Amino acid sequence: LSSEKYNVKRKQFGTVQESDINYFKSILSEERVLTDENDVLPFNIDWIKNCRGQSKVVLKPRSTEEVSKIVKYCNDKHLAVCPQGGNTGLVGGSVPVFDEVVLCLGLLNKIISLDEISGVLICEAGCILESLDTCVRERNLIMPLDLGAKGTCQIGGNASTNAGGLRLLRYGNLHGSILGIEAVKADGTVIDCLTTMKKDNTGYHLKHLFIGSEGTLGIVTKVSINCPVLPKAVTVGFFGVKDFQSVLKLYKSAKLSLGEILSAFEMADFNAINSSVTNLNLPNPIDEYPFYVLVETHGSDEGHDAEKLNRFLDKEMESGLIIDGTVTSEPAKMQTIWNLRESIAGSSLTRGYVFKYDVSIPLGNYYDLVPMLRKKLGNKALDVYGYGHIGDSNIHINIVVPEYTKEIGSQIEPYVFEEVSKLNGSISAEHGVGFRKPQYIHYSKNESALDLMRELKTLMDPKGILNPYKVLPEK
Ligand code: FAD
Repeated sequence: LSSEKYNVKRKQFGTVQESDINYFKSILSEERVLTDENDVLPFNIDWIKNCRGQSKVVLKPRSTEEVSKIVKYCNDKHLAVCPQGGNTGLVGGSVPVFDEVVLCLGLLNKIISLDEISGVLICEAGCILESLDTCVRERNLIMPLDLGAKGTCQIGGNASTNAGGLRLLRYGNLHGSILGIEAVKADGTVIDCLTTMKKDNTGYHLKHLFIGSEGTLGIVTKVSINCPVLPKAVTVGFFGVKDFQSVLKLYKSAKLSLGEILSAFEMADFNAINSSVTNLNLPNPIDEYPFYVLVETHGSDEGHDAEKLNRFLDKEMESGLIIDGTVTSEPAKMQTIWNLRESIAGSSLTRGYVFKYDVSIPLGNYYDLVPMLRKKLGNKALDVYGYGHIGDSNIHINIVVPEYTKEIGSQIEPYVFEEVSKLNGSISAEHGVGFRKPQYIHYSKNESALDLMRELKTLMDPKGILNPYKVLPEK
């Protein structure tokens, strides 16, 4: 149980009674109120199987009005609520810690409108990212974000975590792409900021309160989001590189050579790619190298783009920055390469317990922590590897150990966060703070910033019912 593992005490919330269940059934109907232990169990366990809550009830609203009624009732009765989207979050934010009511958003899954000219999509929070992408692609548009969890994560979860993903470099983050939000406050009030305008300077930009606040300030029920045009030409290059300095030089060169068509620049060290290859049996299209770089272009002219990428490959093979590589525009081959990269996150889960870190570090020191951790942990770790979004200074570090023990945990934390802080990085680049990191947030936020966060929380959710034990540290 998370509460025991992390030594957290239950706050003075109410406990769900039979009469509460009856009320929930009266507004949702019987089948959308889950109380059977087996039905509730998956909602208590997070994707990485690190956190486990003790909720006894899952509610599945189908509309904003139902969300509003539930949240208002819980607020009145002082019942804590844990909003849950696709439950792919990696910091334990999406599962309850004690007996919070799980508010499952998955049935709010309607697309409301898509303006093919402006590219603005309005949809409900429970729509799955990949389904939205499939839908908008039929209209020559794409979703502005893409991540390994796309088949399960929901747009409301993406908004609530300000998810970054594979093409942030090109399409920016959700604070920009999301134009408007409809959200329910802790007292049940519906805040309708569902504008579709890119330009709207009418006072405070309230949507930002809900983007990235991980369900602690309100429940996101609808979003309007700007979808870029479907690129006519996509090309992927996968390169073997001899050391990390070459990865950095290659990034600079790729920005200069590929300019506006560069859509992703990802790196992975040998151990990271090897983890996908050996644990998941995925093919690697090139030989073994200390570092790998994946470059993708999105453009409008296939011949022109492939030529640009090939020219870049030739130039950098000649300079020695690239030792070996392949460039392809064939969808199946591109998929094979992306699969290799996207599968790294889950590739070690069967080998033992994985400590996962998602940090931003200025590029000059981007990879420093990986060798430092290897040295520090020695043979206590089965594997330590780094991979991530170079273009966003964001590295993921996975440490695989045979099993979780407090002893090994205390060797890694707060060490990792201290080092990131010394390097002026962020202890959470894109996954958020959730349940796992509030006690470390001070490494990236000073006291006055934390105080303002607390004031906002008190204003939006005075009784603290929304996703307690998450994001904000105890004072
Ligand atoms: P959940 O996991 O259900 O919830 C995440 C948080 O948001 C929780 O705090 C929850 O309470 C809150 N929440 C969810 N829905 C709502 C709502 N409607 N209203 C209010 N609060 C809500 N993340 C990245 O940023 N970039 C990546 O590249 C990336 N790659 C990943 C790859 C894999 C294989 C996996 C498993 C995860 C990855 N993630 C990545 C993390 C995760 O997928 C994202 O954080 C995603 O945005 C979570 O969406 P979700 O619907 O699963 O939300």
